[in-house]
Amino acid sequence: MVKVSNRQKPHGKVSSFKNTNYQFDIAADKMNLDESMRVLLKTPFREVTVQIPVRLDDGRLVVFLGYRVQHNGARGPQKGGIRYHPDVDLDEVKALASLMTWKTALVDIPFGGAKGGVTCDPTQMSSLELERLTRKFISRISIVLGPYRDIPAPDLNTNAQVMAWIMDEYGAHYGHTPSIVTGKPLHLGGSKGREQATGRGVVFVIREAARDFKLDLKGATMAIQGFGNVGSNTALLAAEAGSKVLAISDVQGGIYSAKGLNVSKVLEHAKRQGSVGGYREADAISNEDLLELKCDILVPAALGGVITKLNADRIKARIVAEAANSPTTTSADEILNDRGIHVLPDILTNAGGVTVSYFEWVQNLQQFQWEENQVNSELEKIMVRAYVQVREVARKERVPLRTAAYMLAIRKVAEAEKLRGNEPLDPRISSTILQKRPIR
Ligand code: NAD
Repeated sequence: MVKVSNRQKPHGKVSSFKNTNYQFDIAADKMNLDESMRVLLKTPFREVTVQIPVRLDDGRLVVFLGYRVQHNGARGPQKGGIRYHPDVDLDEVKALASLMTWKTALVDIPFGGAKGGVTCDPTQMSSLELERLTRKFISRISIVLGPYRDIPAPDLNTNAQVMAWIMDEYGAHYGHTPSIVTGKPLHLGGSKGREQATGRGVVFVIREAARDFKLDLKGATMAIQGFGNVGSNTALLAAEAGSKVLAISDVQGGIYSAKGLNVSKVLEHAKRQGSVGGYREADAISNEDLLELKCDILVPAALGGVITKLNADRIKARIVAEAANSPTTTSADEILNDRGIHVLPDILTNAGGVTVSYFEWVQNLQQFQWEENQVNSELEKIMVRAYVQVREVARKERVPLRTAAYMLAIRKVAEAEKLRGNEPLDPRISSTILQKRPIR
């Protein structure tokens, strides 16, 4: 095998895709992965950019940009969420798509990785505008979607309602196809337990890791950045498990209580007010201070790149559980590792969402519904199995959990590529023949 080390730490304005591939290369170096296999596994299979003209409620026509990146489909149909956010660009979508490839491989569900996004600010758009945007986006990328090709799901600022519009729009072109998208409302073929799945998976992984790090989840203190689908469900389930949630935040800021927050009450307040801010039985805290709070477990569950070399030295948690995708930059990751802070990597920690999306897809194809306890117990089995495998590789290879997770995932995708015929060196051709053959 050819030995390559082409790692160069991303610097300047950090590209999300370079960040992700930097983590890939750390694991690939450890595995002595062949150069051509690296290129095959790092390069996205397909990148689509579309213009999305949308008529706003006031009559103006605005042209948005939308992306769908299919990163790798060697292990099955490509799978990944759709994000609506002003910072979305092709680079970010490529990074998120590659994370999906490693995530689905790591938890061993038969999917590849994809991601989509639209550069827009959904907080400034009406529901009708969002519906028009979603329908136009889907009609323009539907040619590369399909239940056995590429299946979208919710992500930042998209929810079950958006998934319902996606199913409806796809169905208008290709006929009723519930298995085209996951994270749908229950009445349209959604799975019981999908809404809570990512948060539930986060808590399963934290529970297993806490036990290994001799930390009792019951009574453990926690700070959670982000109170959307992932953050709120993580908070609710962690509180149910007996943890003390000290702080919670959203895009507008955070709240803190040394006694611990009543998460259900905070959720009711946030639903009423549109934000956790102003909750009476707590003090205000900024998003920056929340990350640096003294607690046992820090859960970034909002945006990427929030733990950087500028604040990594001041993180005081014992465990950072990456519920968001890529919340830790590569430099920060090294600082946290050096400081002995355990980082539970995103491709493991937040894989519960795509796992139950897989269950939803299976139920749609079988036209059958599972009970919620079946969904939750199958999810638990998968998350615990994945955590144990990652921990074992980390111990055996003496690498951080993130590198171990990548190593496990890369091995599976590389094997699938080889079996499909993409062997870096065709074993039937000896290297001597290769050397003698003239290059044309
Ligand atoms: P969401 O839109 O439901 O919630 C996002 C939350 O983050 C909101 O509370 C929002 O106010 C907050 N937020 C936004 N910008 C912020 C900022 N600058 N500072 C602090 N908070 C901010 O999104 P979600 O589905 O919960 O996704 C959150 C993260 O989890 C994303 O990184 C996403 O990629 C990842 N993720 C989501 C799923 C899923 O199933 N939804 C699965 C895996 C990973």
